[in-house]
Amino acid sequence: MMAALRKTRWIVVAVVVLAAFALYQHFDLGHLLTFDSLKASRDALSAQVDAHPLRTGLAFFGIYVVATAVSFPGASILTLAAGAMFGLGWGFVIVSFASSLGALLAFLAARYLLRDAIQARFGKRLAPINEGMARDGTFYLLTLRLVPVFPFWLVNLLSGLTPIGAARYYIVSQIGMLPGTLVYVNAGTQLGALQSPGDILSPALLGSFVLLGLFPLLAKWLVGIVQRRKVYARWSRPARFDRNLIVIGAGAGGLVTAYIGAAVKAKVTLIEGHVMGGDCLNYGCVPSKALLRSAKLAKQVRTASDLGMTDVVGRVDFSAVMARVHEVIRTIAPHDSVERYTSLGVEVLQGHARIVTPWSVEITAQNGARHTLTTRSIVIAAGATPFVPPIPGLKEVGCLTSDTVWGLKSLPRRLVVLGGGPIGCELAQAFARLGSEVSQVEMAPRIMSREDPDAADLVAASLRADGVRLLVGHQAVRVESSAQGKRLIVKHGERELPIEFDELLCAVGRSPRVSGYGLEELGIALTPRKTIETNAWLQTLYPNIYAVGDVAGPFQFTHTAAHQAWYAAVNALFGRFKRFKADYSVIPWTTFTDPEVARVGLSEDEAKAAGTPYEVTRYGIDDLDRAIADGTAHGFVKVLTVPGKDTILGVTIVGEHAGDLLAEYVLAMKHKLGLNKILGTIHTYPTLAEANKYAAGEWKRAHAPQKLLEWVGRYHAWERN
Ligand SMILES: Cc1cc2nc3c(=O)[nH]c(=O)nc-3n(C[C@H](O)[C@H](O)[C@H](O)COP(=O)(O)OP(=O)(O)OC[C@H]3O[C@@H](n4cnc5c(N)ncnc54)[C@H](O)[C@@H]3O)c2cc1C
Repeated sequence: MMAALRKTRWIVVAVVVLAAFALYQHFDLGHLLTFDSLKASRDALSAQVDAHPLRTGLAFFGIYVVATAVSFPGASILTLAAGAMFGLGWGFVIVSFASSLGALLAFLAARYLLRDAIQARFGKRLAPINEGMARDGTFYLLTLRLVPVFPFWLVNLLSGLTPIGAARYYIVSQIGMLPGTLVYVNAGTQLGALQSPGDILSPALLGSFVLLGLFPLLAKWLVGIVQRRKVYARWSRPARFDRNLIVIGAGAGGLVTAYIGAAVKAKVTLIEGHVMGGDCLNYGCVPSKALLRSAKLAKQVRTASDLGMTDVVGRVDFSAVMARVHEVIRTIAPHDSVERYTSLGVEVLQGHARIVTPWSVEITAQNGARHTLTTRSIVIAAGATPFVPPIPGLKEVGCLTSDTVWGLKSLPRRLVVLGGGPIGCELAQAFARLGSEVSQVEMAPRIMSREDPDAADLVAASLRADGVRLLVGHQAVRVESSAQGKRLIVKHGERELPIEFDELLCAVGRSPRVSGYGLEELGIALTPRKTIETNAWLQTLYPNIYAVGDVAGPFQFTHTAAHQAWYAAVNALFGRFKRFKADYSVIPWTTFTDPEVARVGLSEDEAKAAGTPYEVTRYGIDDLDRAIADGTAHGFVKVLTVPGKDTILGVTIVGEHAGDLLAEYVLAMKHKLGLNKILGTIHTYPTLAEANKYAAGEWKRAHAPQKLLEWVGRYHAWERN
């Protein structure tokens, strides 16, 4: 279908080009569209206009449109001719509309014929240009149009490849070409006095055009300044500041921001309203991974006979498991502690922060004492809270969340986990392995909908093998409580199904923390996903207020919060000299189920949705020596590459330690190393990391030069004889 469409397009191009060429030859335009020829035929052309003004005007208009649409050389001669033939007024009107219409046709032709192919081929590299054009295309185009030295046809062609809208393109072109058109048409009226086209654009006139061309960019810059001033207009700016930087929230995002600020000798205050370390340390990554470790051992104890152990029995002591979880938190806590950050040069205040003005933050200490600090910049790193959906009865009955689950004193006998995302899957598996009867409810047709189905299927199979009752395509409709106990009613198609439970864990997503600390009063906008709206430099509506981490999105990971922190800290402290756009080009993540699912770059689903051409190379970990020896021979490495090249577009790894294995591909993508480089790197035998090299080997085998190898075979045969 696509191939047929492409073919039709090229047939259209061939017909248009041939027709244009025939026209060019027939009218001998190559000869006519010269300065001397125009001068010689000026009287005849004027006589033609006098005899048939309307017909000649329309014919001229048509020729001009066609000539510019197919990018014939000689548009400037035609413009001079318009002046010579129709005078300044009509010549200007005719050329202005004809040139804009011709430009639009050329633009549409480039878009229709080339844009998809160019965007598909260079999509990622063109992304910044596309974004720039979508945002500031009008200004760039206006500049190009105002300076008539930029080749007309090239501007049409290149613009057609960008996302700028056709209507906008036409209007900006028409306005932008007015001064140049006026100069050339006017010159046409003085044709007799001109010796060559070079006389039209004197250095002084050219300089004026360049200044005129700079005007839109200058105007844009001034508009930016005015807009920024307007945002701050209702606030009075302090004469001096107490701090260079105030950071709200001491989770991953806030801690790294403060650390960088202090490292470069800025005066930084970090304010935490609850516990140092934020979600990751206290309610997220750390406790969940500690719990998963105990759960994994519980599973290994149960399956110890697979590895030749007999009489291995182990009983889960849930309170001891939880005690260890908290011990792990306590052990890691010094990394994020007040003491550590104070020793790094950060002033740490414990209390609730509220932004009062764009330059001042009020801190309410735990004892109710308040004071206000002024600051040049603010970084908001306030994190997110578990989202509890408005399911009838849920509020009354109550539920666990990732905030409260760590307070459980005993193992729930029957646990419902609501949500089939990473947190839901990790915790469902952990509790099932520790001995709970777990029912996991997911509304979508499958769990882990962000990952490809082949990866999610392996996790689903593993969850089921661990005894999780996985109910996908089931919607939670209400929660009921009676003397007999608590139950969740789920709906599957038209059928309702009750699930009895002792505890219900809600893991359906996390909402950015965006209220109660001044955003509303300052009018800081939110995105449709309810994260704080930031630009590419992580600035909010107020350029001196930044946002990072879960509260800003687009990702909700510890490492992305820390990644953004660098940009926010550097931009906040040094932005007046140089600003850096947050780079999300290579973002990895891992779901720590067993098997783990690790990903960087595109999945197959995403590549298809984006129309990005790709090839898939798969290596099955069931074939890997080390995995076989370890009894973990399951999973795969799947690499998406640019067709015919070893350039990596994305990688999904499912298996034991997939998150660790992924690091090699993250490095490769970040530094643009292809599969050939991975193949050419020695990997220790026998390690799980060899899976990465074998995947590269699979790719190489599939791309072996068969023809060449046939000849090499013949050469060897010749040598044998
Ligand atoms: C169960 C679970 C498992 C997870 N596992 C992983 C994982 O394996 N890997 C991974 O990368 N990510 C994981 N995450 C996500 C990770 O925890 C978050 O992405 C990360 O903590 C976000 O950091 P942050 O700095 O944006 O926010 P947070 O860590 O939430 O920190 C925000 C801090 O701001 C404070 N605060 C908010 N408002 C104010 C105010 N007005 N005044 C003062 N202080 C304020 C809060 O008290 C909080 O301490 C997991 C999350 C959960 C819930």
